[in-house]
Amino acid sequence: MNTSTIHHGNKLSAFFCSLFGHHYVVSRKVTGHIKEYKCLHCQKQVTTDVSGKLSALTPQMQEINSTLEDMYRKRHNRQQVSQVA
Ligand SMILES: [Zn+2]
Repeated sequence: MNTSTIHHGNKLSAFFCSLFGHHYVVSRKVTGHIKEYKCLHCQKQVTTDVSGKLSALTPQMQEINSTLEDMYRKRHNRQQVSQVA
């Protein structure tokens, strides 16, 4: 018998998620409407993509989000400065 089972975190949690859906909490705020989420039960990470849907948080998506976050912060900072001035 081949018993080379791939362990994906907690099996019970994954089962719970498949029954009731993931319990996402915001793990990182990228921009005003783009956030990264993490499931409390199975630790699955997703992010809001440009179309506003949730998609898997791949290293590529993380990179895009970092760029977006950087742009958002710079723009936000500039707006704050212009409001004060
Ligand atoms: Zn989950």
